[in-house]
Formats: sequence, C-alpha cells, structure tokens
Amino acid sequence: MVVFVWTNRGKTNERKAGGLHVKDSFVVDTSALLSWPLTELNGAIMVQSQVKELERHSPARAEMVEAIGVIISEPNRNSISSTSMVAMETGDMGGLSDTDLHLVAMAYERKCVLVTDDYRMQNLSERMGVRWRSVNSDGISEVWIWKVRCVGCGRAFDSPESPTKRKDSIGECTYCGSDLKLRRE
Ligand SMILES: [Zn+2]
Repeated sequence: MVVFVWTNRGKTNERKAGGLHVKDSFVVDTSALLSWPLTELNGAIMVQSQVKELERHSPARAEMVEAIGVIISEPNRNSISSTSMVAMETGDMGGLSDTDLHLVAMAYERKCVLVTDDYRMQNLSERMGVRWRSVNSDGISEVWIWKVRCVGCGRAFDSPESPTKRKDSIGECTYCGSDLKLRRE
C-alpha cells in the first residue's frame, strides 16, 4: 500500500519516503524543466542529455533554464548500477530511456526529490525509496511489476539489462518476430 499526499505542486510520496523538508533539492525531468516556474528551478539538478532534449522542445526555454542556474550533473557508476538492478526487478527497464534511468539514479544518490510524470520512473522510485513528485498528472497509486511479452506468441522474456531508446517496442521476439512489449504482471 502506497501512501501519498497532495502538495500545491501535485501528488507526491514524500511523507512516506522521508518526510517533508523545508528546503528540498529537486532532480527534474524534462517535463518539469518545460513547465515549472523558473524561480523554482533555481538549484534544481538535471543531467547532460536533457540539454539537447530541452533545446529540441524549446530553444528559448533551454536558454532560460541555463540562465536561472539549473545544475547539470551525472550520477556515479554505483548509483546507476543499483538503479539498473532494481529496474530489472520491477521490469521498468524496458520502458526507460538512458536519461530516465540517470535521473532516478541521481535522485537516489543525492537523496533528492525526483520531479516527474513518468509512471515508470515513479514506480522505480517507489521501489528504491526515492521521494518523487508529479508535475501535471496524478501520478501512480500502486507499485507495478512489468513483464516483457511477445504480442504475437505471448512468450515471456527477461527484462533488458539496459535502457532502450524506443518507448513503443522493446525489440522483436526471437521465435516469431513480433514486437515485444511491457505488460503488467
Ligand atoms: Zn513471439
């Protein structure tokens, strides 16, 4: 059972995972970089690969984010490998990008609040005891386990060991060639 509270910025698991803090540091995903008020992004942490993502969405916003003093950093190898192991257990790995995985690892490493609307990143954060906050959506209300399955023959496959770039398909079935997708267990 996951306990959530509502803040003026949306849903969060903060009370459960470590209490509400007066001055929290935030690790922000790209939707937060695009839609949070600039004043609140001051001192927030992002990863390098988001700079390009942000520039693609909105060059003007990218400039403002840089000017306001968002910190660009990368998680260390240990945090990435701990996060990867849990992502394989939950099955979220198949639906995460490199950037997603690094953002969760960063929040885990620095004990920050992760700001994201991505259900897989929220799910993974729950499992890792990482505090998270939604941007615009309601967020998850339970923790899910995902299995990789073939949409053709229905065979189950192991979770990939690293993030996949494609969000729509994880790969092809080695038996029948159909797409592999994530299904709730
Ligand atoms: Zn198949």
